[in-house]
Amino acid sequence: MSLQVPDCTQCLIGGEWTAGTAGERIPVTNPATGEVLGTVPDCHESDALRAVEAAAGASETWAERPAVERERVLLRAHDLMLQHAEDLARIITLEEGKPLAEARAEVSYGASFVRWYAAEGRRVYGDIVPSPDPEKRLLVFREPVGPTLVITPWNDPFAMVTRKVAPALAAGCPVVTKPARETPFSAAAAVRLFAEAGVPPGVINLVTTSRSGAVCDAILTHPRIRHVTFTGSTEVGKLLGARAGALVKGMTMELGGHAPFVVFEDADLDEAVTGLLARKFRNAGQTCSCPSRVFLQEGIADAFLEAFVDGMKRIVVGNGMAPGITMGPLINRAALEKVQAHVADAVAKGARVIPGGQRHGDGRGSFFAPTVLTHVRPQMLVAQDETFGPVAPFFRFRDEAELSSIVNHPTYGLTGYCYTRDLSRAFRMTAALRCGFIGLNDPAPQSAEVPMGGVRESGVGREGGRWGIEEFVTVKYVSIRV
Ligand code: NAP
Repeated sequence: MSLQVPDCTQCLIGGEWTAGTAGERIPVTNPATGEVLGTVPDCHESDALRAVEAAAGASETWAERPAVERERVLLRAHDLMLQHAEDLARIITLEEGKPLAEARAEVSYGASFVRWYAAEGRRVYGDIVPSPDPEKRLLVFREPVGPTLVITPWNDPFAMVTRKVAPALAAGCPVVTKPARETPFSAAAAVRLFAEAGVPPGVINLVTTSRSGAVCDAILTHPRIRHVTFTGSTEVGKLLGARAGALVKGMTMELGGHAPFVVFEDADLDEAVTGLLARKFRNAGQTCSCPSRVFLQEGIADAFLEAFVDGMKRIVVGNGMAPGITMGPLINRAALEKVQAHVADAVAKGARVIPGGQRHGDGRGSFFAPTVLTHVRPQMLVAQDETFGPVAPFFRFRDEAELSSIVNHPTYGLTGYCYTRDLSRAFRMTAALRCGFIGLNDPAPQSAEVPMGGVRESGVGREGGRWGIEEFVTVKYVSIRV
């Protein structure tokens, strides 16, 4: 059986695929062509509340299932994802725009979380605490937090769902998933495969809507929802976090970033250039861990820039479905306008463009040319806000002391990259970079086994590895007098 866009156009509530009560639809557009690919239900609060009731109704039974049974279901889901890898990749590329090769990598990355958490659910151990009182035995149980609201962004529309849903299900928590309106098909495809693998009715629910604020608020304020896991902008994360805090509910917040990419004079320049090319232009610069400020030590700055600009000539921009394309469009017109505004602001304040700086193509898709900005200053928008586009802003620095005073963003702290062959310097930089995870001579530090997440306004909590499942587990202590 193949999995195509028309198989992903409904919501899942209590085990039933539904068009929602109002019958309204949201069109979903291919950002490379502007064509409408299909529609999904525009759910109202009443649909969302039915999904919450379904999750609440299924909660105890799912939590009581032996972890090994939940593992079996998740392993089947993982296998189905690999069987449908090509279908999933095509759906991702059609609605999100990234080249097919990148979409295939996203499927593999997304499925790896399902594989990891299938097994990790069996390792949610409790503790026996040595008692100060010989007549007592002290036990610590770890239990699922309960029904969880899952909100995902458009930029990795499949993997952001699996990275949250897999640990939640493995821990014993049912979910109500609300994907971004731009990319609901990838989320629906993931949910369909979880359901087909045997996740019981009500344990996984999918709600699509054009009114995220009202619908998510209805879900979050329902007393049976105990946790919200969100990936998206810091702005929306703060709104949700404030709401969850006021209701005393748990939260996992994977928010925006502004990653520094530092290259010292002692670095392997070829590796650093290759690393930056791969990381900067992946998904047309629309990733939370995309390098957003490049810091070059003065002695290698000119050579690095020359090699980097030379490497950019190999980037082929176009429709991600076509063979040979290495960079796709931005997600929509608003994203394109934001990138244009950031470049215009930088140029007005003295930055130079070499090469790029303008739209790409005949105007049908939202393409922007790969761009390098030099002479960048901290007061420019590109150095402050997330540009979320294929724009590489370059700074120069003399030494570590100067770098340390400018390398950390005032509010974000998600990812940092540093290239050096000096071990002592590598450790000093690890301490100096205020972020949740760091790639040292490594442009791709992420995987299912490790903790990912931010500090300061880049987030709260972690996804990945043994840390990711902790977000969905709570501790219950029992004292027994013997
Ligand atoms: P966004 O605008 O914050 O949207 C994220 C999700 O929240 C979407 O599903 C969106 O739905 C929903 N949403 C919007 N307003 C809401 C509200 N008032 N209440 C509840 N939900 C609401 O972010 P985005 O543009 O999709 O994604 C890009 C951002 O995500 C960037 O800042 C990026 O850095 C961040 N990101 C972080 C990580 C990480 O691991 N830290 C990973 C990937 C992306 P609708 O759009 O349909 O309204």
